[in-house]
Amino acid sequence: VEHVVVVGAGLGGVRTVEQLRNQGYRGRISLVGAEPHAPYDRPPLSKQILTGAWAPERIVLKDAEALAGLAVDTHFGVPAVGLTAGAVELADGRSLAADAIVVATGAEARRLPGQPDGVHTLRTLDDALALKAALEEAPSLLVVGAGFIGAEVASAARDRGLAVTVLEAGPVPCERALGPEVGVLCGRMLTEAGVDLRLGTTMAGFADARTVRLAGGTRLSADVVLVGVGAVPRVDWLRTELDLDVTNGLACDASGRVLGADGVWAVGDVAAWDDAGHGGRFRYEHWTSVTDQAAVVARDILGVEAPAPAVPYFWSDQFGLKIQMAGRPQVADSVVPLQGEGLAGGPVKGTVAGYFAGDRFVAVAGFGAAKQVARHRMLLVRGAEKSEVLAG
Ligand code: FAD
Repeated sequence: VEHVVVVGAGLGGVRTVEQLRNQGYRGRISLVGAEPHAPYDRPPLSKQILTGAWAPERIVLKDAEALAGLAVDTHFGVPAVGLTAGAVELADGRSLAADAIVVATGAEARRLPGQPDGVHTLRTLDDALALKAALEEAPSLLVVGAGFIGAEVASAARDRGLAVTVLEAGPVPCERALGPEVGVLCGRMLTEAGVDLRLGTTMAGFADARTVRLAGGTRLSADVVLVGVGAVPRVDWLRTELDLDVTNGLACDASGRVLGADGVWAVGDVAAWDDAGHGGRFRYEHWTSVTDQAAVVARDILGVEAPAPAVPYFWSDQFGLKIQMAGRPQVADSVVPLQGEGLAGGPVKGTVAGYFAGDRFVAVAGFGAAKQVARHRMLLVRGAEKSEVLAG
């Protein structure tokens, strides 16, 4: 391998470059990034950047000097616009021929039909700085969608003293990630912090950038409106003759090799890796999964044996509590309290929930319970049985 082109200069792109060098690869690396900024980390965008606790410089993953130290040719502010077998085409007309191509283009914030300009979404540093500036001026915020991003923005806005309303079509917040039983706890965190949480509320559309129309005809207005309804994998640029499956991100095998494209790998939010052992192909939007995948892909490119896949893990910081989830809650058929009273209506803090598929322990969620989550993460790695987990 003499030239690796990495498309997307976010977490996945940077981790891939680091891993290639860590594995001793001395050939050429080109890193292509649509944004003009040095690669940066996204989790703080909805947390420390919004609250103003951190300046943007603090979230830089690799500055120009660090990238030069890794001997990387950077092409920032120039999106890739096409992929062929063995080359990446850039928006400025250049074509980068490569022995190996890694797609790490992430995802973009999903927009709602008819969403006017001036309604915020949150995915990039520029989005976060625009939202922060708007929150500094505004007395009220309306959030559409009670997923993690919506809840974290609600938390940052309550910190700043704004009146916050959150609309959610589903029966509980964060249902997709945590399931209905545990999602209830996120709902309690929102309402206990003074958020006006409206569950089971369907939006009919926007009247303008500050006003949404609800299904029954009611209108709701706020000074700032944020839409947080998930992210769409960035496969739009993959204009290609190749026969790729992009049903839910780029379909890959268990080593991140893109199906239908020799010499092309994908990592991170854009990639759906095969995990037949757990019943399918999964696309994770988790910080740690990106890092784990980059380690596998760099080794696979260089023909080195890859590490065993890790248990999926993510966290969210809201209203002073760290929520953590490890494992695959989507395959669970039951949820059992392991610690704390939250699932029985008591305090959320300190609650730990175990997810089981029959007798198999498949996931753990914790609220301000880092030690317990760490311990259960080890049990997940070991493939512990339900009886052992319940025995404590
Ligand atoms: P990204 O980090 O999105 O990077 C992709 C890069 O590719 C971007 O810089 C983009 O500009 C670039 N790109 C796109 N198209 C092109 C193109 N055609 N050509 C060139 N470049 C292109 N995860 C957690 O586990 N915990 C958290 O608390 C958490 N909080 C988050 C908060 C926010 C606001 C966001 C947005 C995400 C959060 N995540 C969190 C998720 C985590 O940040 C992502 O999983 C991770 O950033 C994915 O990395 P990635 O490299 O796949 O994509």
